[in-house]
Amino acid sequence: MSKIYDVIILGGGPAGLSAGLYAGRSRLSALIIEKGQDGGQIAITDEIENYPGQVLEGESGPSLTARMTAQSEKFGVERVSDTIKEVSLEGEIKVLKGEKTQYEAKNVIIATGAHPRPIGCKGEKEYASKGVSYCATCDANFFEDLEVYVVGGGDSAVEEALYLTKFARKVTLIHRRNELRAAKSIQEKAFANPKMEFFWDTVVEELYGDEILQGMIVKNVKTGETRKVDADPEDGLFGLFGFIGMIPNTKVFEGIIDMDEIGYIKTDEDMHTNIPGVYAAGDVRVKSLRQVVTAAADGAIAAVQVERSLSDYF
Ligand code: NAP
Repeated sequence: MSKIYDVIILGGGPAGLSAGLYAGRSRLSALIIEKGQDGGQIAITDEIENYPGQVLEGESGPSLTARMTAQSEKFGVERVSDTIKEVSLEGEIKVLKGEKTQYEAKNVIIATGAHPRPIGCKGEKEYASKGVSYCATCDANFFEDLEVYVVGGGDSAVEEALYLTKFARKVTLIHRRNELRAAKSIQEKAFANPKMEFFWDTVVEELYGDEILQGMIVKNVKTGETRKVDADPEDGLFGLFGFIGMIPNTKVFEGIIDMDEIGYIKTDEDMHTNIPGVYAAGDVRVKSLRQVVTAAADGAIAAVQVERSLSDYF
């Protein structure tokens, strides 16, 4: 029979690691299951400047994550790498079936985060990793002194576009409206950067090239006019980065846990879902602000709620 944990935490991003830290400090038997690398979205974030106390020069998502991981492990949280394929959450003992084995716990904290929304143009899958990317930190160096296009107008798109200017010769932001959604302070940096250019009211329709991305058809959504954007002949390729929001990682919970129309999990302010013993924390849940600081707070609250549910004192 497999071990029955007090709590299993799904996801090793800031919400999951923070939940692990609080669960471990409360002497709960806790297991974090993460399918890839720790950090969630900040694993691919170059700069973190708005996490309170985050004033270390050159601090990146991965370095902050490494400290969070070490801190949760210090308090005895167990770790496993697996992908959960099926869940049974209704009973007192929750059963999670992974690719490798089955896990059981009295409580589950879902901190599975979200993944990038595809740009939605023709050829996007074909040119993934052959010019198309969703991670500037991972792929910026492939475009050293080349031209790069970034789709989106939110904080992520503009921040990542600014990061890409450190590598690329020119960075063109393609946005479907004529004003950015990003915070004003970030916008100001983008407008002041001489390497930045903008295609307003524009969407990407189709990608083309031989083995690698060499051109795209873009459309002006106001006039309906389409045109080709080809790579500089001397370069022979360009990069296209998509930052148009996220999709919650909740497929395995569909039809089981209450969600909104996009798939974010509904919780109360103490992270309870509609199923007793099942909590959601971080970007995966319905909330107004998805940041490292709010994810970490969610994880702490969820773990404390688990502790309270298991203890006689409350
Ligand atoms: P977001 O704020 O939802 O912005 C998505 C952007 O993509 C919007 O500009 C949107 O256009 C555009 N878009 C959406 N669907 C599109 C489509 N199908 N085709 C073309 N464009 C499309 O997403 P985000 O930038 O990833 O940010 C997510 C959350 O994280 C936000 O709350 C953000 O504030 C936060 N965040 C914060 C920081 C920071 O504080 N430093 C950094 C990164 C992210 P419209 O504007 O027309 O809707």
